[in-house]
Amino acid sequence: MRGEKCLTHRPVVTTKHIFITGGVVSSLGKGLTTGAIGRILESHGLKIAIQKIDPYVNVDAGTMNPYQHGEVYVTDDGAETDLDLGHYERFTGAKITRQSNFTTGCVYRSVIERERRGEYLGETVQLIPHVTNEIKSRILALSKPGIDVVIVEIGGTVGDIEGLPFIEAIRQLGLELGRESSLFIHLTLVPYLKTSGEAKTKPTQHSVGKLRELGIQPDILICRTQVPLAKEALAKIGLFCNVTPDLVFEEKDVDYSIYELPQTFVRQKIDRHILKKLKLRTHGCDLSEWETMLDNLKNPHGSVDIAVVGKYINLQDSYKSIYEALTHGGIANRYKVEIHRVDAEEIETKGGDTLLSRVSGVLVPGGFGMRGIEGKVAAIRYAREKKIPFFGICLGMQCATIEIGRHMLGLSNANSTEFDPKTAHPVICMMEDQQKVSNLGGTMRLGAYPCCLDRDSIAFGAYAIETCFERHRHRFEFNNAYRERYERAGARFSGLSPDGNLVEILELPGHPWFLAVQFHPEFKSKPVAAHPLFAAFVNAAVEHQRRRHAVKNSTHIHVKAREAKAARR
Ligand code: GLN
Repeated sequence: MRGEKCLTHRPVVTTKHIFITGGVVSSLGKGLTTGAIGRILESHGLKIAIQKIDPYVNVDAGTMNPYQHGEVYVTDDGAETDLDLGHYERFTGAKITRQSNFTTGCVYRSVIERERRGEYLGETVQLIPHVTNEIKSRILALSKPGIDVVIVEIGGTVGDIEGLPFIEAIRQLGLELGRESSLFIHLTLVPYLKTSGEAKTKPTQHSVGKLRELGIQPDILICRTQVPLAKEALAKIGLFCNVTPDLVFEEKDVDYSIYELPQTFVRQKIDRHILKKLKLRTHGCDLSEWETMLDNLKNPHGSVDIAVVGKYINLQDSYKSIYEALTHGGIANRYKVEIHRVDAEEIETKGGDTLLSRVSGVLVPGGFGMRGIEGKVAAIRYAREKKIPFFGICLGMQCATIEIGRHMLGLSNANSTEFDPKTAHPVICMMEDQQKVSNLGGTMRLGAYPCCLDRDSIAFGAYAIETCFERHRHRFEFNNAYRERYERAGARFSGLSPDGNLVEILELPGHPWFLAVQFHPEFKSKPVAAHPLFAAFVNAAVEHQRRRHAVKNSTHIHVKAREAKAARR
């Protein structure tokens, strides 16, 4: 036990810790709840850090299928993480980095690597204390000077076998940090049974029972519910779960938007209870910026239809940040964005006229693999020819390059080597340093890189700065051998890497708004600060809609005038 003793003492940590667990079922919205709590603490002027622990064995989310895991969220420092980190960044100003997410896989990898290096000095390496110590030190790594509160979300549901080492680690930490420096919040489900007309508290009792069996008495319970919960129900939950009734809160399904959540909590004064328990003093809660944003969101001037053409359209989570960023673009323009999820493969069979003729904007998001590519190319061609605003992101930019190559440059069969390694026109090809990569995990071009913007371009108009920093996640890129030919055909490369070697942004000047980027701007968009490109794209869609209505109205007036003239004759 020699090398492992340090963490069994009380660590010298002044940062307060909030641990958030989930009970009864998964998908309760723990990430949103965590983000919302972060937001209200920040609204009290506190500096926070947030972390998500994932109990799966993958080292990170990078190799996981969007069907199983939703979108892979990328941080500035190039970590491929759980999508909950996206909620944290959207709700708060916390700095989200590689340290903000870890999994069973990374914990065991570190422990095994240390064991192989002989760092355990001959000890028998065990789950307790070696694995739990590794977990604790990863949590404590966030307690940096200036950080008042670290919020840690434990993925999964209490009672899962995979989660046990994490629950044990936070139990130990609670003890070591002390009652005034740690707080346990348990998010649980109170299902409503239509047949009996009752909200049932039993699953919550069992879930808290399980948590207490593992040594954790939650301080605060947050009950997810479809219906408002009566005071008696909250009191009953408190009684059975050993929590005073004033610390049992309700989180009813939001009426309008997930961004209402911080206000829902503040209305119930959850912030005051958290501050009281953690002995934190503040000058009060200022949610005014958030409230202004909500006002814009709830009282739009109108709505605008935008299509997202992808292959995971049935899954809300697969393009999570894209959908959120479109909503933010709407907030910035005070327009509600009606998102139409269009299946790329359906465009292949039904065509753009059937599926895209009524939208005012087309977005093709990132992705991997061949399926749906031809549909995406067809959607881009439709948007280009019909002059509908188009926004391509990562794979969306690569598809735009293919489309322009095939139909504006006449390079039939132009393709990406990802889909056709032997294509005669590899307009998109694998980046040089990717050719020698053999491991798939964590080896793409990842994280934030600078991009220099051309003045007088659409991109510069949106950003209003000369260099932007945007996050990447790709292996393929624009093939520079084709650059001049594209420029001659009318394309403009308005964003390049500082050395000029990598194409980051492609525009078509003859089109009202045709812009495609090799990076992922959606990861940096917030409801209170929409990403400039999303704000500009939604604005272009609103303009398109206006023009279309104007044309429709003038056609209508002409027809009416012609009919009136005919009637007079
Ligand atoms: N599959 C493409 C590449 O690896 C695009 C990746 C993406 O859209 N994130 O380059």
